[in-house]
Amino acid sequence: MILLLFGPPGSGKGTQARLISQWLGIPSVSTGDLLRAEVASGSPLGQQLESLLAAGQYVPDALVNQIVIHQLERSTNGMILDGYPRTEEQAEFLKKALADRNIREPIAVHLEVSDTAIVARLGARRVCPKCRRVFSLVQNPPKQAGFCDDCDTQLTTRTDDTPETVLQRLRTYAELTAPIFAHFHNSLPINGNQKPENVFYEIQEAMAQVPEWVSQNTRLGISPTSCTT
Ligand SMILES: [Zn+2]
Repeated sequence: MILLLFGPPGSGKGTQARLISQWLGIPSVSTGDLLRAEVASGSPLGQQLESLLAAGQYVPDALVNQIVIHQLERSTNGMILDGYPRTEEQAEFLKKALADRNIREPIAVHLEVSDTAIVARLGARRVCPKCRRVFSLVQNPPKQAGFCDDCDTQLTTRTDDTPETVLQRLRTYAELTAPIFAHFHNSLPINGNQKPENVFYEIQEAMAQVPEWVSQNTRLGISPTSCTT
């Protein structure tokens, strides 16, 4: 099963991706992380990506598509796509790529958060550079200040979390990403203006209303109500 997780920057998408991944036992694949890994590698492609990301611009569709399909082919049990598709062209590409591989149409979960809440959250976001776990100094601070709970690595801020870049990303998200929910049959809006555990509960409840998902996972013995965080 493919689950698409949508939300503007600062919507808590990374935290929900981790919770859903633990719940369903499928990997969460963030295109942002894939792109940053390419940048960190210092390859010519990475250098090209770096200047695009620093300017808050989107990476060309064809390039992102290539990276995602590579992941799709390696994830036989399904996966959570975090941050993809980001344009209508990518959405159509993904639908065709899944159909070509006889994979069921994905469930699209979108976190809806007000701009003011996002602005308040962004200055507080920290990420573990090693295991990619995301913390918020306000909502879910690490147990030891500045260090990851899971692997004890020093936490960092993302280079694309500066205020100017964030404002550009919010505008781009509204223009490009919001219209693509309509491309998917199972599109679930979730209220992201609440605590992470409540957002996660709402996601589980919403997915329990999707008949195809319920029938598939009843056979696998997975029930939304049997899960705790
Ligand atoms: Zn870590």
